[in-house]
Amino acid sequence: MIHSNPNTVKRLALAVVLAGALGVSLPLAADQVPFQTVAEASQFQSTSRYADVLDFIAKLKKQSPYIRVETLCRSAEGRDVPLIVIGKPLPDRPERMRGDGRLVVYIQANIHAGEVEGKEASLMLARAILLAPTPLYLDKLVILIAPIFNADGNERISVENRRDQAGPANGVGVRPNGQNLDLNRDSMKLDSPELRGLVANVLNRWDPALVVDCHTTNGSYHQEPVTYSWPLNPNGDPDILRYQRDRMLPAVQKALGEKYGTLAVPFGDPADWRDLEKGWATFSHHPRYLTNYVGLRNRLSILDENYSYADFKTRVLGCFNLLRAILDHCQARGDEIRGLIKAADERTVRIGNAPSPEDAFALEYEVKPLPDKVTIRGYEMEVIPREGTWPEIKKTDKEKIYVLPYFADFVPKKSIRRPYAYLVTTADPDVVALIRRHGIAVERLAAPARLEVEAFQIAELKAPARPYQGHWTSELKGEYLTEEREFPAGTVVVRTGQPLGSLACYLLEPASDDGLFYWNGFDRYLVPQWGRGFDKCPVYRLLLPVKLGTEKIAAGD
Ligand SMILES: [Zn+2]
Repeated sequence: MIHSNPNTVKRLALAVVLAGALGVSLPLAADQVPFQTVAEASQFQSTSRYADVLDFIAKLKKQSPYIRVETLCRSAEGRDVPLIVIGKPLPDRPERMRGDGRLVVYIQANIHAGEVEGKEASLMLARAILLAPTPLYLDKLVILIAPIFNADGNERISVENRRDQAGPANGVGVRPNGQNLDLNRDSMKLDSPELRGLVANVLNRWDPALVVDCHTTNGSYHQEPVTYSWPLNPNGDPDILRYQRDRMLPAVQKALGEKYGTLAVPFGDPADWRDLEKGWATFSHHPRYLTNYVGLRNRLSILDENYSYADFKTRVLGCFNLLRAILDHCQARGDEIRGLIKAADERTVRIGNAPSPEDAFALEYEVKPLPDKVTIRGYEMEVIPREGTWPEIKKTDKEKIYVLPYFADFVPKKSIRRPYAYLVTTADPDVVALIRRHGIAVERLAAPARLEVEAFQIAELKAPARPYQGHWTSELKGEYLTEEREFPAGTVVVRTGQPLGSLACYLLEPASDDGLFYWNGFDRYLVPQWGRGFDKCPVYRLLLPVKLGTEKIAAGD
């Protein structure tokens, strides 16, 4: 909590605003900062508790008519997670946004509650936007902010958490939520109230054009306080991926340096810690990571990873500046972004409605370097060999510029033909509910139909030695056999000719590495009651367009 006299607060406010803007025209004059975040007031020794965040939001509401608060979800421990809506005029509900020229941008912080810069920076951002003499960005954007997405993890603040990072001295929260789940691995299985709330109350309800997810890095050494990534999975729309990777984020990085004085570099770790020259490698392609999941939904998304060895103040201000640079871009390029998204949705629908043999869906990937190398302001590292184990790697104080191949291009190694529809013969209510929860349209056959389909014949079913995120995940291997088969009335039909068609494929492909099979959705249907071998997979692929007599599965069905 805050312990400082008003004069200190005022002087500090000046320092913070100046540092935050770094010589750029200030969004707020110093004496107009009427209240501070916990980070600011504690000279960046502390981070906000849940009650502090609610208190800060309440103060913003008193100062501005352009902010409203919705509930994103109720956490496992019963905390209402706030979703700030900022707009001028304030849309009272998203349906009123139809035909509205403004772009919706969603900023999320604290998904890992030990990584708190985004929480502090997004609150500062909301204040800077709302309390500027003319509110910033609001002629072009509606801005949603979830400053404390993992509220339960945040309340476990301790100096013992994330001890390797440079502050805040008074501690941070923990990575998992109240169910001990990593929320940045929950986008596909939706086991947590936080992710269910995010999908229902933000992604499906507000349909933001861009999602920004704020984190802190875990290990690599460099001087840039900000790192970032775009969605990596190549099953997302290729134009959106390329736009973010080749145009938007390079432009944001440039503006971040030139306008805000903050250095940034694409997110990564050394491809080989023993030899840094080998390259810089990004994270994984899996859509269980929120950034990739949003990409699979044909929307833009940015991963922000603030550099954990920079001091807390530098991290918060770096994150604040990154958010500013991103919003600047969205404000200037709203029409372009809207056009990309519309084209991506239309392309997905078109391909799904008449898939050709060339329309492929990737199942396995190979990570290749991008054509352009990445420049990192790093340090010379000392490699100390150790008997019988990995060498010890130590950072020296000697700065060194690395120009490295950047392993961030996920190229399909094994692909499969995109089907017209998936037919699910179990009608399992949990499975149907999960597919629908993502926002995917689900139908069922109104009458029996005889169809030529591909059936997945399981050859191998493997579980790991230890559970992962509460699951004994299932890895299926096998092959598709073409057969003609009678499907009874009531068979669940999921067409890929819908805006979320790529997500539907990822969820329903039996060999998918992050789908419903992997997360145990179909386990009880895979092996016979007695004897050995496997049952046929209850999900069939209908390759060619056929007129299907179906009815929609409605809410509550
Ligand atoms: Zn994180």
